[in-house]
This record gives sequence, C-alpha cells and structure tokens, in this order.
Amino acid sequence: MPNKQTQAFDVIVIGAGPAGYSGAIRCAQLGLKTACIDNWYDKKGLVSLGGTYLNAGCVASIALLESAKNYHSLIHNLKEHGIHTKAVSLDIPLMMQRKNNIIDTLSQQIADSFTDHKITYIQAEAKLLNERLVKITPLDQSAASILEAKHIILASGSSPIDLSCAPIDNEFIIDSTMALNLDAVPKRLAIIGAGVIGLELASIWNRLGAETILLEAQETFLSMTDQQIAREAYRIYSEQGLELRLGARVISAKKGSKKVTVEYQDSDGTHALRVDKLIVASGRKPNTENLAAAEANLLLDENGYVHVDENCRTTLPGVYAIGDLTLLGPMIAHKGIEEGLFVAEQIAGIHNAVNYGLLPSVVFTDPEIAWVGQTEQALRAMGESIKIGTFPLNATARAQAMGQTEGIVKIIADANTDTILGVHIIGTQASEMIAEAVLAMEFSASSEDLARTIHAHPTLAKALHGAALALKNKK
Ligand code: NAD
Repeated sequence: MPNKQTQAFDVIVIGAGPAGYSGAIRCAQLGLKTACIDNWYDKKGLVSLGGTYLNAGCVASIALLESAKNYHSLIHNLKEHGIHTKAVSLDIPLMMQRKNNIIDTLSQQIADSFTDHKITYIQAEAKLLNERLVKITPLDQSAASILEAKHIILASGSSPIDLSCAPIDNEFIIDSTMALNLDAVPKRLAIIGAGVIGLELASIWNRLGAETILLEAQETFLSMTDQQIAREAYRIYSEQGLELRLGARVISAKKGSKKVTVEYQDSDGTHALRVDKLIVASGRKPNTENLAAAEANLLLDENGYVHVDENCRTTLPGVYAIGDLTLLGPMIAHKGIEEGLFVAEQIAGIHNAVNYGLLPSVVFTDPEIAWVGQTEQALRAMGESIKIGTFPLNATARAQAMGQTEGIVKIIADANTDTILGVHIIGTQASEMIAEAVLAMEFSASSEDLARTIHAHPTLAKALHGAALALKNKK
C-alpha cells in the first residue's frame, strides 16, 4: 500500500507519444491532476517527448521525404520551369540536422504544453503494479518510487519486430529508426517488407538516389488498400525505379566486410542479393513486455496486445489502454490521439465515441496514398451494390501547373442511397485531400452532396469534386 510520501494523481499516463501526450493534455484541461511518464531518450542520451511518431517515425519520415523530393525535383524537374542549376550536391548530415531540428521544436512544444497545463512530467521507466499503483524507475537508475492514481492510461506504444533471419546490427542490417538517421546515401539498398514503413523509407532513399529493392513476402501489393489504387501505386513506384519483388520471403541476411548478402525465396526458388544496407521493416509489436508486473494481472492477447473493450477499458478497473497497444484500430498516430482525447473525456464523465470506421489512412510516399472507409474489394466481397466514380489528377489545372499529374481519386457510393462508402486517392497531397472526404463521410454525405459543393478552382480538391461529378446519373 502507498505510504505517506506516495504522490497521488487523478490520472497517470504511461507514455508521451501522440496517444499519451494528447490524453494527458486533455485530462489536465478537464481539471484532472495529471502525471505523464515517458522513457524515450535519443542516441545522445537526451530525453525527447513525442514517442516514435515524432522521434523515429512519421515526423522524421515526412521531414526527410520533403528534402528528398526537393533534391529529386532540383535534378529532374526544374529545367522545364526554365530554372537551371549548376552542380547539385547532397549534404546528408545537414539534411538529418534539419530533420532533428524539426523534431526538437515539436518535442519542445509538447514539453511547453505540459508546463502550461501543469502536468507532472517524469522521465522514467513505468511499471503498472495494480489498478492504482505505478512503480517508476528513473532513467539514471536512481531509487525507484511509487505513484498512485485513480485512473491509469497505458500508452507505451510499439517497437519494430525483430526478424531472427536478419538480426539488426545497426550498421549493415538496420531498423527503421536507423534508416531515418543514415549519414550517407547507400548505393544499393534492400528493404524487408513493402508495408507502410518499408514504402515510406524506400520513397526517401530512392528519391535521394539509392538503388532500392523491396522484398515482400505477400503476393498481393498493399493488400489493405483499394486494389485499383494499389495497382496504380505499383506502376508509379516501378516507373520511379523502385524495384518491388512480391512473394519474396527473406530467409537469411549475412553481413560481409562491406556488404550484406540477403537470401530470399519466391515461386522460382532461392535467390541472393548483395546490398550496402538492409532495412528491416517487417512490422511492429506493442510495448507490453515490461509494462505491468505479473501480479497486476493485465490481460494481454497471444501477440502482446492489451485486451480492451470498445471504450479502451482494460480488464482492470480504472486502467485504460490506447494507441498502438490495442487492436481497436491500426497503428496510426491519429488513432492514438483520438483515443487519448476519448479516454480523458470518459474519465471526466463526457462520452464521445471514436468513429473507427472513418479513420483516414495515409502512406507518406511520393506521391502519397490516402483513403477512408471501405475498399471496392471489401464491398464487393460483402455483396454490396455500389457505384464508382474516378477522376485522374492530370485532368486538373492545379496538378498540371504543379507538374504533379500522377494519380487518381476514386469515390465509391452505395448504388441505391448514393451514400459515400469509401474514398481512395493516390497523388500529390492526397493526405490533405482526404480530410474533405472524412468530413463528408462523418456527415453521411451522398456523392451528390460532394458534387453540389462548390470547390475553388483550380485546386487539387477539384479532382475529388470531379470524381463526385463522375458518379452523377450512375447506377
Ligand atoms: P506492416 O505489417 O504494414 O508491413 C510489414 C511487411 O513485411 C508485411 O507486408 C509482411 O508481409 C512483410 N514481411 C515480414 N517478414 C518478411 C520476410 N521475412 N520477408 C519479406 N517480407 C516480410 O508493418 P510496417 O510497415 O512495419 O508498419 C508497422 C505499423 O506501423 C503498421 O500498422 C503501419 O500501419 C504503422 N505505420 C503507419 C504509418 C502511417 O500511417 N503513415 C507510418 C508508419 C507506420
């Protein structure tokens, strides 16, 4: 039991990634005395709030992709604008520094928000002891202490899954974090896994000039994505020089003195590749290994995900789990953010459900892929009666002016009611365009509602409008 010195809070949040920090801030805004505990520190040993998403994920990835796109554009696209450059050279350490500065700025903003909201931020390893008590061990391994709270939110995120056939040495065989911190462009790069992470990393390093080969065990490319969009993505990436080998399961990776030899199997047999770096992007697992003491009896499934109900409640009263820790939705930052807000409000007695059916998904490649709602293949498998409208980006004046004409917008609507069931986009700024589709679907819009909505011209959003117009009079 806690002694007199035990610090007590209304809420303790374990983890300061997007799920944890948004939950902690909302709790504090709702008048709850809140502590947030986080154990992230970078390779210099400095703490940094924001979790994987900020320090070694989405933010780092989109910052580097922006640099890579600029470089590629400078070499390949500016001539047609009548802009001529002399020698173009790359300074990868400076590019990394820019990315690190962005991370530092955003991390500091979270720290400032914690201060403004009077959140107690503790840099430590946290362990759930029971539904009320959390043991904290400072990162310098000084004496552990115990905190007490009426409510505990678990938001400790996820980490890369190790592949026993390709052990990480972070020199030749590297994980996704190291792949965002290289100091030079590898001449020849292989990536295990053509999931979201593999594709995002491939897009960066390919745009920076690396010969990039993706080895993907599945036969179907981007199986969770609408397959018309996936086929378009496959074509565009291939034309950019990304080599996508599907049905290729990596079985071993051995480092020599300067190269890695990767062995994989496909339907033709076993093959070997020699590359300068191998990135392992074969999935992520929830960080639950040391999250709770055995006597806490926190219920996990066989893959380590925390068992929760539809309200993110674990089997322990007053203990919630959010973000990458649960299977309530995919491992995406904005799912965690929504759950953080949702749980904070629940604790404060406000009930607002998370609409998991309308979570937008984005693949931050060049061009981007974004979607919301159901895919054509899923709707057809369910026997739904649907109609489809598509519009190519190259038919919009804005995309032409930008010189970014690759891609399409696809809207799927119910054939009888015209209600929009799914929107799928591949193209520049698809991640921005999808927001309109999410809002439309949140309000149960029909494709006619979108078609009758006036869109500024010329904009990329006109492609969404065009797809809605294409659905008019369709049965
Ligand atoms: P993933 O599961 O999406 O993809 C990993 C791929 O690796 C799979 O397709 C799998 O078939 C393949 N694979 C595994 N072992 C292999 C082997 N031996 N040989 C060849 N292929 C092999 O995982 P990920 O891309 O690592 O992403 C992890 C999670 O993080 C996902 O849920 C993803 O949605 C999420 N994430 C989202 C974003 C975003 O929203 N933009 C960004 C990064 C990560």
